[in-house]
Amino acid sequence: MSSRRPFIVGNWKMHKTVAETVGYVAEFASHLPSSSSGCDMAIAPPFTALSSAVAAAHGTTLQVFAQNVAAEGPSGAFTGEVSAAMLKEVGCQGVIVGHSERRRYYGETDAVVAMKTRRALDAQLLPIVCLGETLAERESGAALEVIARQLRAITDTLTDADVHRIVIAYEPVWAIGTGQAATPDIAQQMHRHIRAIWEATFGASADTLRILYGGSVTADNIAEFTALSDVDGALVGGASLSPSGFANLVRGA
Ligand code: PEP
Repeated sequence: MSSRRPFIVGNWKMHKTVAETVGYVAEFASHLPSSSSGCDMAIAPPFTALSSAVAAAHGTTLQVFAQNVAAEGPSGAFTGEVSAAMLKEVGCQGVIVGHSERRRYYGETDAVVAMKTRRALDAQLLPIVCLGETLAERESGAALEVIARQLRAITDTLTDADVHRIVIAYEPVWAIGTGQAATPDIAQQMHRHIRAIWEATFGASADTLRILYGGSVTADNIAEFTALSDVDGALVGGASLSPSGFANLVRGA
């Protein structure tokens, strides 16, 4: 039996103002007394709402993560970027790194994702590193190889001290925002693959690595994923935007 504590993270993407964020956190907390939650929970609002989210979540078990971080730091001439140290300063506990939308729309390569992961670790933030194959890669039979390549870009840069301070999210690109979640068989196979690579690289610490599934997770299907032996929670987009819906999903995990 796994001793890994489940982790459910809501990725809000480019949604919610400061006022909406504050209202969300209050409502979410009212739906989910902390005593009822057997898992770790986080929301990832846009940069502009992070401080307010941290203040609103104070005294609850809800954590606040950023959705992105600069590959450079801790400061410098990088217009538009926000460093890991700055995220730490406003009270974030972690950051999502390498989401497929960042890879696809903003050209983030495996090397950039590895640099961002390093920045997060150095600032004592918990990185959630996203991996995932496209539909074309899956259909051509390359899914396992793509995930291995994306993961090795990260494992190559980690020290022994880092290996317990990182979370991986398997998010097949074809499942994100499509309503077509991966089947439990695919999710389990891919998560096992990730854990096997971790084990071959870092040995027994693979038992403690949390691997989240992401891609069209809802309150209706979350239990199918968390029942799988190598799935330790979920990274949730659309279904995290309603506080009552997200509370329901967390309860089902
Ligand atoms: C995501 O953006 O990380 C995601 C998994 O989105 P959705 O749950 O909407 O598929």
